[in-house]
Amino acid sequence: MKNPAPLRFSFAILAVVGALIAGCATEEAVPDVPVVSYTEPPLPDGAGPAATSPEPSSPDPQCDRPTASLRPIPPGAAGQNAPPMPTVDAIKDRGRLIVGLDAGSNLFSFRDPMTGKLVGFDVDIAREISRDLFGDPDRVDFRILSSAERIEGLQDSTVDIVVKTMTITCARKEDVSFSTVYFQAQQRVLAVKGSGINGVADLADKRVCAVDGTTSLRRLQRIVPTAQIVTASMWSDCLVVLQQRQVDAISTDDAILAGLASQDPYLEMVGASLSPEPYGVGIKKESEDLVRFVNGTLERVRSDGTWNRLYDKWLTVMGTSPGPPAPTYVD
Ligand code: GLU
Repeated sequence: MKNPAPLRFSFAILAVVGALIAGCATEEAVPDVPVVSYTEPPLPDGAGPAATSPEPSSPDPQCDRPTASLRPIPPGAAGQNAPPMPTVDAIKDRGRLIVGLDAGSNLFSFRDPMTGKLVGFDVDIAREISRDLFGDPDRVDFRILSSAERIEGLQDSTVDIVVKTMTITCARKEDVSFSTVYFQAQQRVLAVKGSGINGVADLADKRVCAVDGTTSLRRLQRIVPTAQIVTASMWSDCLVVLQQRQVDAISTDDAILAGLASQDPYLEMVGASLSPEPYGVGIKKESEDLVRFVNGTLERVRSDGTWNRLYDKWLTVMGTSPGPPAPTYVD
């Protein structure tokens, strides 16, 4: 007897479906279904596992008195006695000072939540230089540079100066010049309170965040080679990564960590200093006259009470003012 029509139809469908399944299994790979996690928040843009540094253990270049800089031009050296000031004159002609810094370093350069304007200790140091150039602290144009972009920003003249928690090192002095030290920081560790992390020795095999192109990252890679380092482009991104518990700690300058800790009561700075981090204003290597000019401003700021006023305005979370660091000169 012949199959009834509906039954024949069902066999036909089964045969087609069977062929399709077989075809899928053998000929074309099923496209990967992305694994979506609803509990793991995404990392901030640009954050991820650190590229293995080429030679983290190679010694840094050494130099004589790295923080010594060029003496300011004496205020009396005017008229015929005045040395040529080509870079300073060009900035004065332009009428604006172009300053490189970032917007993610609370206390030093960050956006005022109410006005959206860049403010902080570094911003105010830049304004003091503008004050001496133009008689006006507000003739500054800011260009946002990540830590990793600071040296190139000076070399290609994107900016006149970098005022961005920038440590003076012998390696960097091969590429750019620095003012005298205007702030003395120390590299330390920031962790969640009660996490059991009490200093750098506890970071072995732990996940630690640091920003690309910094002395902090390099030192971490050398001191704790087993740490799993996540890099981000700004320190405020490291804070997010720590708050999302995607790392166990952050390590950088106490000055920056104090700014992060002040935004989160669950965090604390722990352990001794990993290294001194003297901050200088970064300047293009050839612009000696600008180095001397900036050092003149820093002399004034140290002696007329401005430095202490700025410390009290921004940095009291770090304790009472230690007073401005004393300058040293090469000439
Ligand atoms: N002071 C360190 C450096 O210059 C870290 C500061 C920063 O990333 O702004 O590399």
